[in-house]
Amino acid sequence: MGRVLERQKANEVTPSRQHAEAETAALHAEAASIKAEEASAAKSEFLATMSHEIRTPLNAVLGMAGILMDSELADEQRMQARTIKVAGESLLDILNDVLDYSKIEAGRLELEVVDFEIPGLVDTVKTVWDSQMSGKGIDFSVNLAPDVCPVIKGDPTRLRQIVFNLVGNALKFTEAGSITVNIAQNILPDGWLELQVEILDTGIGIPSDKLDSLFEKFTQADGSTTRKYGGTGLGLAISQQLISLMGGEIGVESTVGAGSRFYFTVKCEEGDRSNVASMDEDASGNSASNLEMDQKLKILVAEDNAVNQLVIRTMLEKAGHEIEVVENGALAVEAVQAASYDLVLMDVNMPEMDGITATKHIRELDGPVSEIPIVALTANALTGDRERMLAAGMSDYVSKPIEPAHLAAAMGRQCDLDVELESVVDTNDTGPQELTEDQLKAFDDLSDSLDELLN
Ligand code: ADP
Repeated sequence: MGRVLERQKANEVTPSRQHAEAETAALHAEAASIKAEEASAAKSEFLATMSHEIRTPLNAVLGMAGILMDSELADEQRMQARTIKVAGESLLDILNDVLDYSKIEAGRLELEVVDFEIPGLVDTVKTVWDSQMSGKGIDFSVNLAPDVCPVIKGDPTRLRQIVFNLVGNALKFTEAGSITVNIAQNILPDGWLELQVEILDTGIGIPSDKLDSLFEKFTQADGSTTRKYGGTGLGLAISQQLISLMGGEIGVESTVGAGSRFYFTVKCEEGDRSNVASMDEDASGNSASNLEMDQKLKILVAEDNAVNQLVIRTMLEKAGHEIEVVENGALAVEAVQAASYDLVLMDVNMPEMDGITATKHIRELDGPVSEIPIVALTANALTGDRERMLAAGMSDYVSKPIEPAHLAAAMGRQCDLDVELESVVDTNDTGPQELTEDQLKAFDDLSDSLDELLN
C-alpha cells in the first residue's frame, strides 16, 4: 500500500516538478545546440584541412602539366598533357564547389561590394562560352537590354559564377538548338535596382515533379542522367544561396523534351565608373600575366613540399628570376639574414616553423630586412585566412594552385614593377625547355622519395 502511494506521489505533477522538467529540457536543448555547433565547427575545420590536403597535390599536377605543355611535345603527348590539365581543373572546380557550399552553410562566405561593368560580364560570358557552343553546333547569344545600368555595385566574381553555372548546365543538357542569355533591369519601389537574368535552352528539359527539389544540395533531376552527364548536384544549391545573399530569387520553368528557362534576380545599386577596377585577367584564363618582368628578382621560396618547390622554381626560373628554396619557416628567417632578397614567397603550413610565425620573426628583425615583401602562398581558402595572414605582417597573398597571372600581379605590386599583360602565347611556338641542374636533381630526389614510399 505504502509503495503504491509512493508511486502515485512520484507521478504527480507538482509545480516544482514542472519547473525542474522545463529546466532539464532547456539544459538538454542547450547541450544539443552546443553539440551541433561543435559538429559544425569540426566540419569546417575538416573541410579546411581537406582543402589544403587536396589542393597541395593538385597544385603540383596543374603546375607540372602547364610546364609540360610549355615543352616541345609531339601532338599526341600534347593532347595527353592537356587532358591532365583539363581534368585537374575540373577537379579543382568540384573542390571549390564543396568548399563554397560549406562556407555558405557555416555562414563564412562574404560577398564583395565593388563597382563593376555589366557589359564586361557580357563580354566574359561570350568569350568563355562561344567556342564550346559552336563546337557543339549550338546557337549562342547574350542580350543586354539597352536601359541596364552599365556600372553597378556588387560582387562580380560571384555573379559571374552564377551565370557560368546556369550557362554550363544549359550547355550540358542541350544537344541541339540554341542557348540564350537575356539581361534586363527593373527599378524597385524602394529605389534599388533589380538585375533580371534569364538563361533559355532547347535541351532535354526537367520533369515537373523534379522542379521543386532542384535547388536542394546534391539533387539531380534524374539519378540515371548522373552517369551520362556527371556533376555534383551542388551548382544550383550554391547559386540559390548566393542569389539569396544578394537579395534576389531564382526560379525555373521547363518542359521535358523542349527546354528550360532558369531566371534570377539580384538587388544592387548603381555604381560609379571612376571606381571600376581594371581587370588584370579575364575569367577564361585566356590572358595571363607573364612572370617575366623588367627587372630580374632574387626570390626566397619557403615551401616544404618537394613537388611544389619544383613547380614554383621552374615557373620563376623560366622567367629569369634567381631562386633560393628553403623548406621551413625557421630556415627562411635564417636565409633572409644571410643574403639579401627582393621578395619572399612563403608557404603557410610548414613543419618546424609555419609561415605565419616565420613572418612575425622576420618583421621583428633589426634593419631594412624586416620590411622585405613577403607573399603568402596558401592552399587554405576560408574567409578570414587573408586577414590572419595580413595581420601577421605578410604583404600579400596568392592562393594555390598558383596561377602565374596572380603571382605576377602580387610580385608586381610588392616590388613596384610594371607587370605586362599579354595573351597566352601559342604553346606550339615556345621552344624546348631545358631543365636546370637543380631541377634535374629535384626530379631525382622526388623519384627517390616516391620509390621509398612505394617499396
Ligand atoms: P550538377 O553539378 O549535377 O549539374 P546542378 O545543381 O547544377 O548540379 O544541377 C542539378 C540538376 O538539375 C542537374 O543534375 C540536372 O538534372 C538538372 N538541370 C540543371 N540545369 C538543367 C538544364 N538546363 N536542363 C536540364 N536539366 C537541368
